[in-house]
Amino acid sequence: MKVIVQKYGGTSVGTLERIQAVADRVARTRAADGDAVVAVVSAMSGETNRLIQLARDLAPRPVERELDVLMATGEQASAALLAIALQQRGVAARSFLGHQIRIGTDSAFGRARIRRIEIDSLREALRRGEVPVVAGFQGVDDDSNITTLGRGGSDTSAVAVAAALEADVCEILTDVDGVYTTDPRICPAARKLARISYDEMLELASLGAKVLQIRSVEAAKRYSVPVHVRTSFDDSAGTWVVREEAGMEDILVSGVALDRDQAKITVERVPDKPGLASKLLGPVASAGIVVDMIIQNASHGGDTDMTFTVPLADFDRALPMVQKTAAEIGAAGVVSDSNVVKVSVVGLGMRSHAGVAARMFDVLARENINIQMISTSEIKISVVLDAKYGELAVRELHRAFVEEVDGTGGHG
Ligand code: ADP
Ligand code: ASP
Ligand code: MG
Repeated sequence: MKVIVQKYGGTSVGTLERIQAVADRVARTRAADGDAVVAVVSAMSGETNRLIQLARDLAPRPVERELDVLMATGEQASAALLAIALQQRGVAARSFLGHQIRIGTDSAFGRARIRRIEIDSLREALRRGEVPVVAGFQGVDDDSNITTLGRGGSDTSAVAVAAALEADVCEILTDVDGVYTTDPRICPAARKLARISYDEMLELASLGAKVLQIRSVEAAKRYSVPVHVRTSFDDSAGTWVVREEAGMEDILVSGVALDRDQAKITVERVPDKPGLASKLLGPVASAGIVVDMIIQNASHGGDTDMTFTVPLADFDRALPMVQKTAAEIGAAGVVSDSNVVKVSVVGLGMRSHAGVAARMFDVLARENINIQMISTSEIKISVVLDAKYGELAVRELHRAFVEEVDGTGGHG
């Protein structure tokens, strides 16, 4: 008997009809080979946004603890509804909230990290032949506060539960039929990958491909959980996210990603002295804001410009901090631009092939797209561009690196 964790995303539980279809699918999976199924559910699509808006209508910056209490209700509702739909089909099922399983997290409301999972209650339910229906996205801290795991966090709930149960597979059932070479909504020529390595998926997820939450991929890699991303609408096979295999490096670029959640801050004419970066970025980092790309220009007459990006959601918090420090250290001023995007190409093949960056810049130059910032790692190159060129850049880079390179659609 295998243990299969199935995570159903927002669209997949978006209506009562969809919840009925999910219940049918869970029942079928169990009946087929007598496998044990643990379902993990997201809130019905749009629900989390709706709840956040309700809070914001009352207060521009609601207290994070209460926001988590509120947001967690979305998953609570869908877990109960799926359990009811299963029971209606004669399938024994029981819903579990984060604190009932005990998905223990730290206390970083809105972006909590899972510390430990106590799975006794899930194991007992499985032993009784029940389908545990787990509310995704939520946990509980040491003081019994409800926490949430960051947007898209049900993926991470599912992988964490799969790791704790040593499940055979964690299926991510969503509204696309797999992981594509780029977002199929932006580029119709995008192709489904049969397999992708954890490291490539990690880069794609961090660079804006929201099909999997970044932390879910980190957890899958750490605990070697095989992840199968597939559609909830039919039984077709999707994309396996797995350990790197022989041959994966043969493909230069596996994917192109677009990250719209970026903002750029430039501190102008900072006196170029040791400790400058730490003074400017220290307070931002202490506030839990992830600074991504950083550029420091060559010094002119003892002054230098420093530019970096932060997540758009943190921009309003980061800017005043930077303005304050900039004034303290005698910088000329701070300019910012939230109308930027990050476009990236990712592939294991870049480790062994030179010249990808040059070709990437060439493709963008041909379209007259100005590159504002560049950063590279072993398996990715990212550029920051004016937001209006984001989709065009994705399509052109996809054409140059994926469509014109091979006809197979990646690791297939
Ligand atoms: P769910 O609600 O099931 O969690 P999400 O909306 O979080 O679904 O993730 C699925 C979406 O991710 C797709 O509808 C697609 O638009 C988007 N996406 C972005 N990049 C990719 C990619 N490379 N491959 C597949 N889907 C992608
Ligand atoms: N409902 C949460 C969100 O919209 C978590 C999830 O869907 O994974 O972010
Ligand atoms: Mg998601």
